[in-house]
Amino acid sequence: MTACPVCGNASPSPFLVRDQVPVHQNLVVRSVEDARALRRGRLALHACASCGFVFNAAFDPALLSYGAAYDNTQSCSPAFDAYVQELADEVVDAAGRRGSRIVEIGCGKGDFLRALLRRDPTATGVGFDPSYVGPDSDLDGRARFERRFFDESCAASGVDLVVCRHVVEHVAEPVALLGQLARTLGDSQAVVFFETPCVHWILEHDVIWDFFYEHCSYFTPASLTTAFERAGFSVAGVRHTFGGQYLWARAAAGGAAGVRMNPGAIPALARRFAAHEARLVRELRRRVAEFSREGRVAMWGAAAKGVTLANLIDPDCESIACVVDLNPNKQGGRLPGTGHAIVAPDQLPAWSVRTALMTNPNYYQENLALLRAAAIDVRLVDLMHPGEVDAHHH
Ligand SMILES: [Zn+2]
Repeated sequence: MTACPVCGNASPSPFLVRDQVPVHQNLVVRSVEDARALRRGRLALHACASCGFVFNAAFDPALLSYGAAYDNTQSCSPAFDAYVQELADEVVDAAGRRGSRIVEIGCGKGDFLRALLRRDPTATGVGFDPSYVGPDSDLDGRARFERRFFDESCAASGVDLVVCRHVVEHVAEPVALLGQLARTLGDSQAVVFFETPCVHWILEHDVIWDFFYEHCSYFTPASLTTAFERAGFSVAGVRHTFGGQYLWARAAAGGAAGVRMNPGAIPALARRFAAHEARLVRELRRRVAEFSREGRVAMWGAAAKGVTLANLIDPDCESIACVVDLNPNKQGGRLPGTGHAIVAPDQLPAWSVRTALMTNPNYYQENLALLRAAAIDVRLVDLMHPGEVDAHHH
């Protein structure tokens, strides 16, 4: 039995096992052979009844490689872009002055750090990410990038702002990561922002495609607070963003009064999910089969959610014809694990696609608009709101 990595509770409850899942969801893969040959691992999710943390007890970080072929860029979507711009405003304003020194842990391709630095033309920033692709220095030297994981050797004293978006869920020992950060910050008064998915949202909405190998750590506002406090941070607040899917935490080094723990509804929600998961998967397969009677079915989105769904319901590429993605770097490639073709939206007619399934409701309206503007006659189905099929479909 594995103890809870956040609070140390000795007996967290297992609630979901999936074997042979592809370890990477966001790799760019060019051939069917490479897609199917991807390394696989085991999901053995546990929920902690003391703090509400959810984690994969079978996670092996050695199976993963976050190199240059890793691409989790989401800024191809106007809705996501607008959301990120709001976050950037909030971060830059939090410093309370211009000329901030910024560190971004897990900067991806550097888009967010650049957005921050454009808002404050006197600010400087360093981004850390082994998957970074681009020049070492940008914006007249105000931005620097280091292709490695953030650790204690990365000097962060004198830093005003720290941003860490969609990283902590990839880390098996989140308190250790936060502790490293606390030690490098020392006595600085830096404001620290973390963004990560909310596991309460996943469990509450039965989002079976939101549990996957890259994410070994799943938080609620309460368990993220527990993790921060155990590492010595004080938490100013954790709120839901992006339609409830994400958490956005604001914290500062030092000053924690104690360690709060509140499991909330997580233990009960995890038990309910465990009881329903097999039925939910069967139900989805049945719906895809139904859509297939009216013509070929595609899936929308070749990122983590879509990759997980395809591997769950169509591992042998029998019911889903192809996968649409707006990221040009993924188009022409293959879906990790299954090998489904990844295509641009304007290729859907050539693939004779009649129905496209969406795993993330936040992109429904913009994809609907995109299809209409291009006069592509494909029915778009929001899998999270099955009753609301495009009313103007003809
Ligand atoms: Zn715990």
